[in-house]
Amino acid sequence: MHQDPSITAPGERQGGARLRPAAFLDRDGVLNVDAGYVHRPEDFVWIPGAVAAVRRLNDAGYLVIVVTNQSGVARGLFDEDAVRALHAWIDAQLRAAGAHVDAFYYCPHHPDGTVARYARACDSRKPGAGMIARALREWPIDRARSLLIGDKDIDMEAARRAGVPGYRFPGGDLEAFVARLLSEPGSEPARAGGPG
Ligand SMILES: [Mg+2]
Ligand SMILES: [Zn+2]
Repeated sequence: MHQDPSITAPGERQGGARLRPAAFLDRDGVLNVDAGYVHRPEDFVWIPGAVAAVRRLNDAGYLVIVVTNQSGVARGLFDEDAVRALHAWIDAQLRAAGAHVDAFYYCPHHPDGTVARYARACDSRKPGAGMIARALREWPIDRARSLLIGDKDIDMEAARRAGVPGYRFPGGDLEAFVARLLSEPGSEPARAGGPG
């Protein structure tokens, strides 16, 4: 059986595939209110305009890739299953509104963790660029047209290290923020190709 090329597995680079820009999104503080170690749907509060912002990025041809530090795993506050379950719930919520996330990357590590197997430094933990670098390897991404949206210095630093422009979301309405980014002259994200 051949795979549907539209669901090409991560890791499969397709020679002729058209590269797409990626929008790397921090999670806590960008998609949802950062209440600290959010790990259950009942505690997840969408940032105003977040769903519409993701849909806007989808419609503009961006791969939408979440990159999120989840040191709560290393701290023993919740496990990786909880992270994955929440991400599945987030994507289901988005899909119900005609939007979607293409991939979630998270780092469960922290050097001060209390769970032994997660208690270490990790290049994937922002400000490290590991998650972005991995996504760049695993998806047909045009880095030159990509961007990152985060709410903290560590997000901006991770973007810088990955060679992607970082934009700090100051709060407010995420769709309005994204709409401004997509229309910003110079970065040309508004000219992103359609889904391919
Ligand atoms: Mg954040
Ligand atoms: Zn890690």
